[in-house]
Amino acid sequence: MKPEKPMEIGIMLGVGDDPAESLEKVKAVGVTNAQMGCPPEEYLGGTRFEELRDAIRESGITITTVFCGFAGESYADIPTVQRTVGYVPADTREERVQKTFAVSEFAKGLGVDAVAAHIGFVPEDTKDPAYKEILATIQRIADYCAVNGQVFSLETGQEPAETLLGFLKDLKRANVRVNFDPANMILYGCGEPIEALGVLKDYIASVHAKDGKWSDKPGVTWGVETPLGEGDVGMDRFVAKLKEIGYDGYITIEREISGDKQIEDIRGGVALLRSLVG
Ligand code: MG
Repeated sequence: MKPEKPMEIGIMLGVGDDPAESLEKVKAVGVTNAQMGCPPEEYLGGTRFEELRDAIRESGITITTVFCGFAGESYADIPTVQRTVGYVPADTREERVQKTFAVSEFAKGLGVDAVAAHIGFVPEDTKDPAYKEILATIQRIADYCAVNGQVFSLETGQEPAETLLGFLKDLKRANVRVNFDPANMILYGCGEPIEALGVLKDYIASVHAKDGKWSDKPGVTWGVETPLGEGDVGMDRFVAKLKEIGYDGYITIEREISGDKQIEDIRGGVALLRSLVG
């Protein structure tokens, strides 16, 4: 799904216990589109799906992508992410694949043509047996999404861009794309984000606008997420690079805090991005 005008700005929408409240947040920051985080089970395939679908319709908000999320994932620190996130942990892989299929069906029910996930740390060594297993897993998911007319987007940041590019080429699936998050490259210590955007340019389906500062020990400890414009991404360079590569999708602001400060920071981010996009 493409916006009417390239680089239309939206936000990442977490659907908690009360979707109406989440939809109000989108309106409160003055945008009309959002990516949706994985909703609780009763909305996903359960009794409250229709209620959620109708609330979205009535709100006039366009959902551009639905993100997967899995029980047992933790972003506490980088080693914990490696151990718990995405399709990399073998013992939860199959249940997470099944959950992804459910998210794909949910998205289809909302008329959304993109599903995305943090797939976890792809091994850099392509001879590692886990590399082939994850490759096969993503191919299965891609093929499921293709039947539903969807792309499956991999969130960046947990590996260097060149590793991800090699993985994308090995996948050989036209509907596997990238949800590019420039701050993740910094927070995880995986490389300079503007350069990475150039490396991955042929695969970008969607982008997050998020900012952050490098850690003192990149790749060992987290960097720090900041409001847009206050971190090391360089939002002006980021938007300029998006224009240079001819990006014509949405820009989704992600600010991973909560409460009034989140709303305030997102409003600031919307204003900043609007001034840069023009
Ligand atoms: Mg992100």
